[in-house]
Amino acid sequence: MFDFDGTLVDSDTALLDAFVVLGVPADEVTYGHAVAEECARLGLSLDDYVAAYDTTAAQPFPGVEELIAGLGRWALCSNKHPESGAGELARLGWRPEVARFADAFGWRHKRLEPVLADLQLGPEQVLMVGDSEGDRWCAEQVGCAFAWAGWNERTRLAEPEGLVLRSPSDVLGLIDGRLG
Ligand SMILES: [Mg+2]
Repeated sequence: MFDFDGTLVDSDTALLDAFVVLGVPADEVTYGHAVAEECARLGLSLDDYVAAYDTTAAQPFPGVEELIAGLGRWALCSNKHPESGAGELARLGWRPEVARFADAFGWRHKRLEPVLADLQLGPEQVLMVGDSEGDRWCAEQVGCAFAWAGWNERTRLAEPEGLVLRSPSDVLGLIDGRLG
């Protein structure tokens, strides 16, 4: 199971640009929140934010295309707006078995329980990969394994506690070793 922004796609600039276009100072923007909650915090309308977000801007991190091609079953669990997320999935040609976005969680912070239910898997059968504290929290809530997307420089430089992967290809090794 993967987070989307900052984990599979290098989206910080795309996320930031939409806020800046709407008049938010760049240094007030943070990452990893439910999009509606972040808009509310910054005093923006969600519709305006979605309209300002360029779904063509964010590119996969190097190695992510190969990772996706090498996965069997995989799922996406993201705090982003479903319109932005679906647009990017279509552009990238990625077809996760399950993709849940912010609307699936009542626009509050995402959770992994419904994703596991959709997959009909238990927490011991999955690995969650993410770039933010909210991703780690989600994994902790269900009791599944978690690894940091350390190929995201922002995440790697934060030196988070736990398993920090250097490359997307490390995910495949981890799945084979721990879950396979
Ligand atoms: Mg993220």
